[in-house]
Amino acid sequence: MSVLIIGHKNPDTDSVTAAIALAELQKMLGVDAKPCIQGPLNPESALVLEKFGFATPETCTDVTNQKYMLVDHSDIKQAPENWDKGDLQAVVDHHKIGDITTSNPILFCNMPVGCSGTVLYILYKDVYKKDIPANVAGLMLSAILSDTVMFKSPTCTQADKDAVEALAAIAGVTDIQGWFMEMAKAKGSVAGVPVRELVFRDYKDFTMSGKNVGIGQLELVSLELVASRKDELYDDIAKLKAEGNRHSVFLMLTDIMQEGTELLAVTDDPSVVEKAFGVKLEGKSCWLPKVMSRKKQMVPPLEKAFA
Ligand code: MG
Ligand code: MG
Ligand code: MG
Repeated sequence: MSVLIIGHKNPDTDSVTAAIALAELQKMLGVDAKPCIQGPLNPESALVLEKFGFATPETCTDVTNQKYMLVDHSDIKQAPENWDKGDLQAVVDHHKIGDITTSNPILFCNMPVGCSGTVLYILYKDVYKKDIPANVAGLMLSAILSDTVMFKSPTCTQADKDAVEALAAIAGVTDIQGWFMEMAKAKGSVAGVPVRELVFRDYKDFTMSGKNVGIGQLELVSLELVASRKDELYDDIAKLKAEGNRHSVFLMLTDIMQEGTELLAVTDDPSVVEKAFGVKLEGKSCWLPKVMSRKKQMVPPLEKAFA
């Protein structure tokens, strides 16, 4: 039976590619491993897999009686169903430590860097001393560019930049900027996409002081792309809030060129926005200059505001 390697719900490019890259590394170490995803690929991830010649991983949303490893998360809310009825063998991540626990010692490798791809690069190179296949390097490179918004996100570190340089050479990608823009256009494609699919493109549920809080993010090359759909997006996050007994649902419309986020907010308590960010909601939203990262600039101040 293969060890399943699984990223978070609503998979992003890092979750998909880290599962593949860790599965490849495990195979080199003699472990029968299989990458999985918990939901459909977003358009950016589909483009990345196609470019480097990988098939879409199988879907797995329940790990009952399975051996498994997690990448890009360690939160129960992001994990497959019945995480505690399977046998967790490793976590490779770059987020705050979540609430998953084990009864045995496991490989737990979490680093405060911009991407799981960077942690994997360090595991390949420094820990297990294995060569990274060119196509796998292409995946990891793409994930780091995506997660760090090509080094613009405050989550980006020197380790991410070093990994990109080395991985681009291995993968034979010479025009890094061009490849990033191609991915960014796919990531932010909105025309003709159903509204719920946009809300869920990069969406996570959190628990903050016992309250259910959802935060989605659309990373766009321009806010103009969604100008005509803001009301529709707002109405849909209002629906989502009601459906899931949530206290708040936020949707970050992040302009990666202007480097800031228009935050759409539906909440039982609008004062949390002011407490967290020092700005008042004006109608349905507010503008947060320089805010690009959910992990670093949204979750921590909101957790404080909810406390
Ligand atoms: Mg992720
Ligand atoms: Mg990531
Ligand atoms: Mg992201």
